[in-house]
Amino acid sequence: LFSQQQKMGTSGEGSELHFFLFPFMAHGHMIPTLDMAKLFATKGAKSTILTTPLNSNLFEKPIKSFNNENPKLQDISIQILSFPCTELGLPRGCENTDFIFSSPDLGRGNLNQKFLLAMTYFKEQLEQLIETVKPDCLVANMFFPWASKVAEKFGVPSLVFHGTGYFSLCASHCLRLHKPYKKAASSCEPFVIPDLPGNIVIIEEQVIEKEEESVMGKFMKEIRDSETNSFGVLVNSFYELEPAYSDFFKSFVAKRAWDIGPLSLGNREFKEKAERGKKASIDEHECLKWLDSKRCDSVIYLSFGTMSSFNDEQLIEIAAGLEMSGHDFVWVVNKNCSQGEKEEWLPEGLEERTKGKGLIIRGWAPQVLILDHQAIGAFLTHCGWNSLLEGVASGLPMVTWPVGAEQFYNEKLVTQVLKTGVSVGVKKMIQVVGDFISREKVEKAVREVMVGEERRKRAKELAVMAKDAVKEGGSSDIELDRLMEELKLVKLQNEKEQGS
Ligand code: UDP
Repeated sequence: LFSQQQKMGTSGEGSELHFFLFPFMAHGHMIPTLDMAKLFATKGAKSTILTTPLNSNLFEKPIKSFNNENPKLQDISIQILSFPCTELGLPRGCENTDFIFSSPDLGRGNLNQKFLLAMTYFKEQLEQLIETVKPDCLVANMFFPWASKVAEKFGVPSLVFHGTGYFSLCASHCLRLHKPYKKAASSCEPFVIPDLPGNIVIIEEQVIEKEEESVMGKFMKEIRDSETNSFGVLVNSFYELEPAYSDFFKSFVAKRAWDIGPLSLGNREFKEKAERGKKASIDEHECLKWLDSKRCDSVIYLSFGTMSSFNDEQLIEIAAGLEMSGHDFVWVVNKNCSQGEKEEWLPEGLEERTKGKGLIIRGWAPQVLILDHQAIGAFLTHCGWNSLLEGVASGLPMVTWPVGAEQFYNEKLVTQVLKTGVSVGVKKMIQVVGDFISREKVEKAVREVMVGEERRKRAKELAVMAKDAVKEGGSSDIELDRLMEELKLVKLQNEKEQGS
C-alpha cells in the first residue's frame, strides 16, 4: 500500500484535498482546529471550518490574517451552522462552553450536559452540507459521534479529533476494560492501571470512566464506537513524546491514528500567537516588555485553562502561596472583574507588595507568547491537553494541578512518564472546582519546580524533539504526509467510481 501511496503523491499532485473541520464549541477544541486548518493549508489542502454564528466571530480575524499573509496557500473558510439556543432549551447566546463556565449561577454541570447533548441538532445540517459540497475528508470532534456515520453515508472518510493525547486515551481504554478501581480498598488507595505501559499509579477519585450507565456514560460509549466506524483518529501529539502510548493506541485501541502535533507550533509569527483564541486582556507588547526585564527561567506562569473556576478561598491560597514562594509570576485569573468592584479573591495589598514581581492577568492571556518567552521558567497548569503540550513545546517543567475531565491522566504523563513535573497534590476531582490546596502546598510546589535542574533539562530536550517533529521530515510531518496521500488515494478512487 505504501508504494502505491508514494506513487499517488506524484500522480495525484493536482488534486488538492478539501477538509471539513467541525470543532466542538469550546476554546480548547476550536484553537487546535484552526491550527490544524493552517497546517493542512501548508500541505496544499483547503479547509472549511463548520461553526455557529457567535463562534465564527472568534475565527474570523485569525483566518483573515492567515489568508492575507499566505496568498499562495489554499484559503481557510468558515461555514456557519444554525444553533437556535432557546429552541434547544439553552440560554440565549449559549454557543460555547465559555458561556457556561463564565455564568456560575446557571448550574454548570447540568447546563454542560444539556449543551453536549444538543450537539445532535447539527446532524441534518451536516448531512446537507456533505451531500452538496462533497469534501474529501471530515475531521469531526469526538463530541459529534454520529458524524462518522453521516460522512460514511456519502462515502467521505471521517477522522475523529479528541483534542487530547495518546496517554490519556490509552489510560481511559485500560480503565474501562479492567475496572481496577472496583478492587481498590478505598477511593484513595493507589493502584496500577492494568495493561497500560509504565506501571502508572492512580486512585479511584481521579477516574472518569466509572459511570457507564449514566447519560454521559452512554454518550461516552457512542464516542468510542465512532472511533471504530471512522477512517481513524487524529491526535495532537508527536511520537517522541509518548511513543509507548502511541504504539499501544494503534495496536489495541483505535488501530488507525496519526500524530500530527504539536499543532501550536504552526504559529510562528507574533501576530498569530497573539490572535490565538480570544482577544487578550493585556497588551501583548506590554506583557512581553515586562518579561524582557526578567532573568532567563526566573518567572512561573500559572493558568487553569478556560473551564476551571476556583472559589475565592482557593484563589486567596494561590495568591498567598505565590507570594510566600518569593518567585516572580504571571498568573491568569479567569474572572471578569468590573471596574471598581472589590476583588474578594485577592489578598489585601498583594498587588502592591508584589509590584514588579508579579503580573496578574484578569481574563484571557496570550498564552503561547508568554510560554515562549525565555524569562518563563515553569508552568503551573491544570493539565488541559493543549496547555500541557504548549508547555512541552516551550521546554517548561510544570506544576500539575488537574481539576477535572482527563486532566488527572495527563498529570500522570508529566509526573510519572516524562518526569518533568511536580504535582501540587490534588487528589480528588469535584466537577469543575477541585480539591482545596493550601498556600503551603502551592509554595512548596513552586519552589521545587523552579530549582529542579534535571527536570528542566528533560523539559528542554522534549522541546527540541517537539520542534523537530513538525519540521520537514520530522515524525509529525511524515505522518501528515502519509495521511494526505491516503486521503488522495480515496479521493481518486471515489472520482473513478463516479466517472465509471
Ligand atoms: N488559552 C489562552 N489564554 C488563556 C487561557 C487559555 O490562550 O488565558 C488557550 C491555551 O493556550 C490553550 C487553550 O486555550 O490552547 C485551553 O485549552 P486546554 O486544553 O489547555 O484547556 P481547557 O480550557 O480546554 O480545559
